[in-house]
Amino acid sequence: MKINTLYQGNYFIAEGIDTSGKTTQLNLARDYFSRKGVETLITRQPGGTAIGQKIREILLDSENIDLVPEAEVLLYMSDRVQHMQETIIPALEKRKLVLQDRGQYATRSYQAFGRQLGTRDIDLLHENIVIKEYSPDSVLFFDISVKEMEKRLGIRNASLNMEKDRLELEDRNFFQRIREGMYECHKQQPDLITIINGERPIEVIQKDVIEHIKELIEAKSKMFK
Ligand code: ADP
Repeated sequence: MKINTLYQGNYFIAEGIDTSGKTTQLNLARDYFSRKGVETLITRQPGGTAIGQKIREILLDSENIDLVPEAEVLLYMSDRVQHMQETIIPALEKRKLVLQDRGQYATRSYQAFGRQLGTRDIDLLHENIVIKEYSPDSVLFFDISVKEMEKRLGIRNASLNMEKDRLELEDRNFFQRIREGMYECHKQQPDLITIINGERPIEVIQKDVIEHIKELIEAKSKMFK
């Protein structure tokens, strides 16, 4: 585990394709740690700031099918750097527990692998401009099959009367490449990224998530004693 000595907050990012359970699990974790008296920030990318919310609308609007991959990746980066500076870094400096729904590993898997832009320039932008030294303590990759995603999307969109957004309109191969991209990210940083089987019951996954976060918080607080 990488310990960032510049701050002592605890920083977790959830990744995974749509409907993999990120929101469900982060909300449950926030409830658990808030009950324990841990000051917790739950937030998301894109859309974790007022400016980011406007960027999110552009990214998800199903009318924007002409958005080119290079413009798409820069919009995600703009959202992210605004979010880092406006929200994440101040929360970490106040030593909050930060639970973030999607981040740089989504861009690596969606744009580098899904859109086949490659990782080199994306990594450089993250390193030099967007993330700098503020890397997370741990990344949880909630993994479900594309078939399971399609099933959950069908149920969710029917029950909420929602239309598919721009990304949900992509074909199966796109989502399969993203999953493979996430496995590749895990292979490159196995200590940082943990794959969580997202096809188990919500309560079973939740136990794993809480345990994982608790262990890292405890390990880190010992390092800083
Ligand atoms: P995400 O934030 O990754 O898009 P959500 O947490 O919003 O995913 O979950 C998407 C849908 O899938 C919701 O309807 C949710 O109730 C359902 N869901 C989440 N986790 C599970 C699970 N482990 N098993 C079955 N359905 C789930």
